[in-house]
Amino acid sequence: MIKVSLISLGCAKNLVDSEIMVGHLHQAGMTVIPDAAQADVVIVNTCSFIDSSKEESIGHILEVHQNRGMKKRRKEQKLIVAGCMSQRFSKDLSSSLNDEVDAFIGLDQVTKVAPIIEGLYAKERAANTAPESFVTPRSTYIPDYDTPRFRLTPKHFAYIKIAEGCNHPCTFCIIPQIRGRHRSRTVESVVAEARQLVKEGVKEINLISQDTTFFGMDTWEQRPNPRTPVDSSRGTALTTLLRQLNAIEGDFWIRLLYTHPAHWSDELIRTIAECPKVARYIDIPLQHISDHMLGLMQRETSSQYIRDLIRRIRAGVPGIAVRTTFIVGFPGETEADMDELCDFIRETKFERLGVFRYSQEEGTRGAKMDGQIPAKVKEARWHRTMALQRKIASEVSKSYVNQSLTVLVEEPGVARGEADAPDIDGRVYVPRELPVGEFVEVKITGYQDYDLLALPKGERPVEFKVAKQAQ
Ligand code: SF4
Repeated sequence: MIKVSLISLGCAKNLVDSEIMVGHLHQAGMTVIPDAAQADVVIVNTCSFIDSSKEESIGHILEVHQNRGMKKRRKEQKLIVAGCMSQRFSKDLSSSLNDEVDAFIGLDQVTKVAPIIEGLYAKERAANTAPESFVTPRSTYIPDYDTPRFRLTPKHFAYIKIAEGCNHPCTFCIIPQIRGRHRSRTVESVVAEARQLVKEGVKEINLISQDTTFFGMDTWEQRPNPRTPVDSSRGTALTTLLRQLNAIEGDFWIRLLYTHPAHWSDELIRTIAECPKVARYIDIPLQHISDHMLGLMQRETSSQYIRDLIRRIRAGVPGIAVRTTFIVGFPGETEADMDELCDFIRETKFERLGVFRYSQEEGTRGAKMDGQIPAKVKEARWHRTMALQRKIASEVSKSYVNQSLTVLVEEPGVARGEADAPDIDGRVYVPRELPVGEFVEVKITGYQDYDLLALPKGERPVEFKVAKQAQ
């Protein structure tokens, strides 16, 4: 029996691809093991979002290769490179990783991984030949509810990829070239998968895609433009899906990740407010606030639109936690743009915020733009925004003290609230033996930067009294 080990890098979307590969390996009778050193085949599912993710991916490939060399298993152990980096660079990598890699597979081959492995064993590679490449250009694949998949997340939370690809023209981003045009699953397919997950005990369903607010709109009869708002009267939309997911029986959260601001609408805000299972949390990558930068980045939004949207979301869904990301150091960014961004962060007080230093990605329009910012300046700008947010995060955490919260227990002593997405945001520390994978009620007793401290509801904190010393 062939033993396979899979190293999954990058984001949750890549993790779902890894889960699909593992599902198909199991279906083909192969064993998936955690220890790469013991495996017959190692698959590295790579990320190539920015430079550092490429470096990390190459690092893992070289490490696997080095380890198999040390174990003198070169002849037997196969190394397959999958994922975004393989899809994007397989031609270039084929010559530079000739010795290390046996095959490259692309995003549309995740369901074909087992026959590809069998093929590698059937025909021994001749010396000095390039690794086999199974990568096909322009990815079009999208999974369905019955696609074999083995979940790699803890039992109580799962990701559902509701769409794949992206039609936006953001000048800093390579994703549309890697993952292809936007294509949505049907509402029925997503609901069937969610229903099954809830049956299996999942308490949190994270809806992911490159552009979650565009869900369904690619199927509309009248083609939507890149700024069309979510509108279920024109066809299937995210709101249609949320209402059907909310109707599934059971106690669980639905979390929305990666919502492009351009498609938000009052209908979407109202739907979230009216669907109690949709977490009071929203991930809405804004990337910048100055009109100058939004124009250069081709974000199809404006400063006024964004400010108004955040105000409408907060007014329409009281208590919602807003997460966003910004990019600093994009070509042409001036000190005035930075001041505007910092003022916006200070005024808006995002509950959750991440900042990226701009990465000059080959193949994007941004990479060729004039006015590239030196690395040192990018670094300084990143520190400036992060220092600002650290203070805001403390204020946000402080505002939770003495509040009661429903949390989902992740592991003994560690839980997460509605305002914290898995693997991205903070934690709620509860120093008690709580049932892992269940919701519990706690009272927040303190905080530390991004994390909260809590006790089970009804339990009083122990008061330490210092005995007075005798005079
Ligand atoms: S919306 Fe923009 S940043 Fe997001 S995946 Fe599409 S092109 Fe990239």
